[in-house]
Amino acid sequence: MSASSATPGNTPLPIRSERVLVLASSLVVVAIVSIVTFLLIREHASAQQDATRAATNIVQLIDADVLRNVELYDLSLQGLIAAAKRDDLQGVSPTIRHLALFDRATAAPYKGDILLLDKRGDVIADSASVEPRKGNYADREYFQSHVQDPSPRMMISRPFRARSGEHDWRISFSYRLNDDQGGFLGVAEAAMRLSYFSQLFKSLNIGHGGTVNLVSRDGIVLAQEPPLAEDMIGRDYGKRPNFIRILREGNGSFTAISSTDQTLRLYTFSQVGDLPLIVVVALSSNSVFASWERTALLVSGATGALCIGLLWLTWRLRRELRRRHRAERELAHLASVDALTGLANRRTLDETLRQEWLRAQRSGQPLSVLMVDADHFKAFNDRYGHPRGDAALRALAQVITQHVRRPADLAARYGGEEFSVILPETTTAGAFTMAQNIREAVEQLPATLTGDAPMTVSIGIATWAQGPYGEVQQLLLAADKALYQAKASGRNRVVCAM
Ligand code: GH3
Ligand code: MG
Ligand code: MG
Repeated sequence: MSASSATPGNTPLPIRSERVLVLASSLVVVAIVSIVTFLLIREHASAQQDATRAATNIVQLIDADVLRNVELYDLSLQGLIAAAKRDDLQGVSPTIRHLALFDRATAAPYKGDILLLDKRGDVIADSASVEPRKGNYADREYFQSHVQDPSPRMMISRPFRARSGEHDWRISFSYRLNDDQGGFLGVAEAAMRLSYFSQLFKSLNIGHGGTVNLVSRDGIVLAQEPPLAEDMIGRDYGKRPNFIRILREGNGSFTAISSTDQTLRLYTFSQVGDLPLIVVVALSSNSVFASWERTALLVSGATGALCIGLLWLTWRLRRELRRRHRAERELAHLASVDALTGLANRRTLDETLRQEWLRAQRSGQPLSVLMVDADHFKAFNDRYGHPRGDAALRALAQVITQHVRRPADLAARYGGEEFSVILPETTTAGAFTMAQNIREAVEQLPATLTGDAPMTVSIGIATWAQGPYGEVQQLLLAADKALYQAKASGRNRVVCAM
């Protein structure tokens, strides 16, 4: 029987409070991290939304501008075709004819020239001068397309470099001219300088690293501002996955890596009316999320520090709790144990006896009590002195402990040179055997401990077995009486209460 099990109810509680502490602060940390993560994700989405909205506005603005310009060209070309078909213009002076042919052609900056070509591709009218330039455009792609394709629709060419002047990039808008039978008569063509778009795009502020693009449906870059690289105009984006996605989706926006410079971009795009043109505003993700990234860094840094601080405090508190619990357990142990012998003390004895008594009442199992008293111990003390008396008591306690083996048994120091043993579920016969064994073992203690004469003990036994005692005190008293009888009848013996 060990004295520490005398306080079995106290140990689980401290462990639980530690667990609650760790669990609670872990939950708080998880909650903080979740809330911050949620807010940052929402902020990120909102930054993207704002950027997309701004880019959509720009795309729509450019859309409208491009549409208006193309309409102007369309008007000019329609006017040219209508005038060219009039027979009454054949006889007038070249100046009047020029005026009539190009009266709807608006002279705007960045605009190219408008030409009327015959079916061989020769220039027969030129918006730039009354006397048409000498030239043949039969090799132009648009010319060949019109020869082969009888469709009356306006064609928009791939971008090309002008043959004359600054050799700048242009695209052309053209219509096929038919005779009354639908035969090919020639082509009306207007060229537009792409630098017009570059100028328009330059006036837009789209943030660092972004570009505004005008791309033809087959993927040719018509304008890009600011350019990502030299000679961007005329490049073929047709096979790029991002462009294929833009073509597929028509209008909208998405985020993807640019295959030109490998940076993450937010693409917002739209088809320009029915035209084979697409406006693409590509914002740099870096600039879109720059402010969010600064906030995120700051907030997550502060949150991290807060959580680490909280966990550190929890750890300190837990360590402190542990220390306190250990001290409490040690104190409880000390309070339940006799200092001299290490056996359970009187307090523990009383408490255990009370519990075992109640248990025996419930179960009906017998309960035995031994009262062990050293014989003539006063004389021993007087002869050998108190220190040796103490040593003898310790040896006696050890002998008793050695004979008390079952977990429910309890050996305790009752007081002075008197000891008690509680033996639950033990009959008088069993208790008697144990008492005899103890008595004989004490007798065998070596002379170094006991002095000249061997040490002896007298033992009184009382057993409750469905009676005859009505209270635990009566049981104890009976054991005491039995002990007294043992003393009276010569000591060094065991007496059972009748
Ligand atoms: P009896 O055989 O009738 O029991 O005689 P006894 O002398 O043992 O009984 P008594 O009650 O007269 O004396 C008990 C003695 O036990 C008194 C005291 O000197 C001694 N004693 C009690 N507690 C201690 C202790 O803690 N240490 C030591 N050394 N002696 C103790
Ligand atoms: Mg005594
Ligand atoms: Mg005694």
